[in-house]
Amino acid sequence: MSEMMKKMIDQAEADLLHTYNRYQVVLDHGEGMYLYDVEGKKYLDFMSGIGVFALGYSNEYYENAVKEQVGKILHTSNYFYNEPAIKAAHRLKELSGMDRVFFANSGAEAVEGALKAAVKYAYVKDGGKDHQVVALEHSFHGRTYGALSVTGNSHYREAFGAMPCEARFAKMNDLESVLEAVTDKTCAIIMEVVQGEGGIVPAEEEFLKAVRALCDEKDILLIFDEVQCGMGRTGYMFAWQKFGIKPDIMTTAKALGCGVPVGAFLMTQKVADHSLTAGDHGTTYGGNPLACAAVNAVLDQYETLGITDHVQKTAPYLEKKLDEMVSKYDYCLLRRGRGFMQGLVCKGPVKDVIADAMDNGLILINAGADIIRILPPLVITEKEIDEMVQILGQALAKMQ
Ligand SMILES: *Cc1c(COP(=O)(O)O)cnc(C)c1O
Repeated sequence: MSEMMKKMIDQAEADLLHTYNRYQVVLDHGEGMYLYDVEGKKYLDFMSGIGVFALGYSNEYYENAVKEQVGKILHTSNYFYNEPAIKAAHRLKELSGMDRVFFANSGAEAVEGALKAAVKYAYVKDGGKDHQVVALEHSFHGRTYGALSVTGNSHYREAFGAMPCEARFAKMNDLESVLEAVTDKTCAIIMEVVQGEGGIVPAEEEFLKAVRALCDEKDILLIFDEVQCGMGRTGYMFAWQKFGIKPDIMTTAKALGCGVPVGAFLMTQKVADHSLTAGDHGTTYGGNPLACAAVNAVLDQYETLGITDHVQKTAPYLEKKLDEMVSKYDYCLLRRGRGFMQGLVCKGPVKDVIADAMDNGLILINAGADIIRILPPLVITEKEIDEMVQILGQALAKMQ
C-alpha cells in the first residue's frame, strides 16, 4: 500500500466511528464494471456497493440526468410538489401494480414507514396498541430501531433494549413456524422474497402462496422488503413478480437511485385508505427532486437497456459457472439464489477468500461468515462472469 493511501486510512480510522471493519482500500472512481482506488489499482466489481450500482459506473445518461437536476433545483421540501417526484411515483406504481408511494431516503427508512403503516392499519381496525409483527429468522431490514425490531439476527438487537415493534420470528420456507408465530395481535408479516444479508435464501413459491393466503384469511398485512432483491436483481422488477404473489406493502431502495440515496414504500389502496394520513408520517429530504431525477434516469435506463430481460438471459450462465465452482472446489458446498443475487455457501469462513480476490482485483462481499455473496451490477456480461470465475477460482483453490 502506498504511503498516501495508508495515511488516508489512518485518518479515517482516527475520525470515523468504528462501526465497520472496512477493506483496506480507498476507492476513487468507477468506469463500467470496474472500480479504481486512489493508487490507480483496478477492481472488477461483483458487489455493486451492496446491490446499489445496477447500471455500473459512469453511465452517461444517468450522470447527465443527475447533473441537469443539480443545475435546476436539488430540494423543495414536501410542502411543495416537484415534477421528478410526480413522475417517479407514477412509474413505480405502474411497475409494481401498487397504488400509493411514499419516498424516503434509505432502505431502513422505507421499512420504518412500512411498519408504521401496518401498525396504524391495525390500530384503525381495532384500536389496539399492542400489535405484533411476524418476521423471519436471518432476515435483514435495516439498522434503525423499527427496522431492527424485525431483523432476525438477534446479535444486532441484543445491546439495544426494548424494541418499538414487538416481533415474533418464524423460519423461512416453513409455514408451520409462521402459523406458530401468528397470534390475534399480529398485524403484519414482513419478509424478503430473497433474503440478502442473512445468506441469500430465496423464498419458495409454495411458501409465499401459503403466507399470502394466511394473511388474506386473517386480514394481516403482507410486507415484502424488496430493498435488496428488487429493482431487477432477480430478473424481475420486483422479486415477488416472478410468482405474481403481491404484497399489501412493499419497500424498495438500494438500486432505486443507483448511488443517489433514496428509498420508498408502496402500498395498496386498501392499506392507504385505512392507515397513514396527513400528519402521521413525514420526511424533509424524502422524494426530493435530485433523488427522484435519479430514480427516473434509472428507470429510463432499465427500459432502454432491457435490464430485467438481460438478467433473465444471463443469469443461467452465471449459475452454471458458479455450479461448476461448487463441483470443482471442496471449500464450496452449494450455490443458491435468483438472477444476479447468488450465494456460494462454503465449508468455513470466506474472509480469506474475499481478501485474496481483492488482492487480485475482484471485489466481493459475504452474507454471513460462510457465504460469498455475488451481487454484480445488472449490466455484466459473460465476459465479466468469466473474469470473476477465474479470480475467485484461484482464491478458492487455496482453501482446499
Ligand atoms: C440494505 C437493506 C435494508 C436497509 O437499507 P439501508 O439503505 O441500508 O437503510 C433493508 N432491507 C433489506 C432487505 C436490505 O438489504
